[in-house]
Amino acid sequence: SITVSDISKAFSGQPILRDVSLDIRDGEFLSLVGPSGCGKSTLLRIIAGLEEQDHGSVEIGGRSVDAERPGRRDVAMVFQSYALYPHLSVYDNMAAPLRQRSLTQFQRGFGLARLLPKARRKEAEFRREIEATATMLGISGLLQRKPAQLSGGQRQRVALGRAIVRHPKAFLMDEPLSNLDAKLRDTVRAEISALHRRLGATFLYVTHDQAEAMTMSDRIAIIMEGQVLQIGAPSDVYHDPADLRVARFIGSPR
Ligand code: ATP
Ligand code: MG
Repeated sequence: SITVSDISKAFSGQPILRDVSLDIRDGEFLSLVGPSGCGKSTLLRIIAGLEEQDHGSVEIGGRSVDAERPGRRDVAMVFQSYALYPHLSVYDNMAAPLRQRSLTQFQRGFGLARLLPKARRKEAEFRREIEATATMLGISGLLQRKPAQLSGGQRQRVALGRAIVRHPKAFLMDEPLSNLDAKLRDTVRAEISALHRRLGATFLYVTHDQAEAMTMSDRIAIIMEGQVLQIGAPSDVYHDPADLRVARFIGSPR
């Protein structure tokens, strides 16, 4: 579960999020929808630890993470822009977060002398995990390529794969389909839904596509003017919008 309590955030004195509270249950697929610039990405970045809130707190799995840097938060973020390392192969892109995490574990728990054989065993484990995930996503033939040699849809799958191999408690996805053409969008959308069913992980999903949010989600949260105006099952929000702003945004029947 992810619990966001009274989060506020301003940029150069301009309030973006005002006392936003949100509770995402274990295994839930929750979509965050709202107009451009309303603070969706900012909220995701705060949960992931990539941005610091002015006020409020974030709990992941019942534990406060406010003092924890991004790598320790046990969430994986998938960006609209893929955010792959251009100089690394697909394989190394997928291995990077695993290696980083295991390095910090070594630094905490093991002396330098024990580091090397252990690291080799770990690398074999990573390879198995990466190959299995790449197969699942249909990118196992691409592991030695660089991101520049991939199509948009392939890059997006690598970004998904890089999140999956970490086995995070939660996935934070920020418009992961927006760079894809319509056909690929359908494919990758179906993959994300299947992933949610298979892994049973918690998903917080940002999209500006209301129809997409409606079909994929257990619940949707409507964020506007810095606040969550309504949160509920898609059909409830659609048929019983909290106010006129929600009704207009969702396109509810009058
Ligand atoms: P979109 O749907 O267009 O992606 P969004 O809901 O994700 O929009 P954010 O990216 O969270 O919106 O941005 C919210 C507001 O905060 C915007 O007005 C944006 O210009 C501003 N903003 C975001 N990041 C920064 C920053 N680092 N410095 C200053 N302003 C910022
Ligand atoms: Mg955004």
